[in-house]
Amino acid sequence: MIKVENLHKTYGKNEVLKGISTEIKEKEVIAVIGPSGSGKSTFLRCINRLEDPTSGQISVGGTIITEKNVMKVRENLGMVFQHFYLYPHKTVLENLIYAPIKVKGISKDEAIKSAEELLNKVGLFEKRNEYPNRLSGGQKQRVAIARALAMNPSVMLFDEPTSALDPEMVKEVLAVMKNLAESGMTMIIVTHEMGFAKEVADRILFLEGGQLVEDATPKEFFSAPKSQRAKEFLEKVL
Ligand code: ADP
Ligand code: MG
Repeated sequence: MIKVENLHKTYGKNEVLKGISTEIKEKEVIAVIGPSGSGKSTFLRCINRLEDPTSGQISVGGTIITEKNVMKVRENLGMVFQHFYLYPHKTVLENLIYAPIKVKGISKDEAIKSAEELLNKVGLFEKRNEYPNRLSGGQKQRVAIARALAMNPSVMLFDEPTSALDPEMVKEVLAVMKNLAESGMTMIIVTHEMGFAKEVADRILFLEGGQLVEDATPKEFFSAPKSQRAKEFLEKVL
């Protein structure tokens, strides 16, 4: 589904990604973990071309991303950020139907129907006519997930979706993500939630200093990390 080949990203003199290669299969759930500043966000942002790679190649569903097809490819990649980025002047429902109507040309009736189904799935149907500022952080993030899903993407990318939430709201968002994983969605999740990564991910990518230091199953990674760097990281976070 996604193939990353020798991805490099440099900001000025700062080489942030130092040649990352990996493949992600359909329905795989990948947790990307690693210390702050290791390049996790940059990695995700290169996949959906919010950043242009300095060199290297990324393909999605067999299509190499180029300047020409980036908008089309991006429609297949749902993205969820730490800070939600909902449209503040639109209701929950309007947040969900805007892009499907505008970008995909879906009829309003059809967009509303599928938006309502998605809101049901994330447990927020009753909030469909509320504005974002009336929602808790956990509710906002669930709306953001539903909004990304409304574009019917083939892959979902998450960049620390629970890092900005109060602890009591983390669970409800992780539950929605777990359901999504179980429904067969291909997912790449940057997270510091080690319990979630262990339980839900099929594979762990451990980044450090812009390098993919480990690519392992959760079992391998959490019980017997190969690298000293992963060992040290786990000692700090577990
Ligand atoms: P992580 O998500 O793992 O914390 P990031 O990918 O955000 O790491 O950042 C990796 C490195 O790249 C950091 O040193 C950061 O300062 C740098 N960086 C990220 N974005 C930019 C940018 N737009 N301009 C310059 N440097 C950046
Ligand atoms: Mg980050």
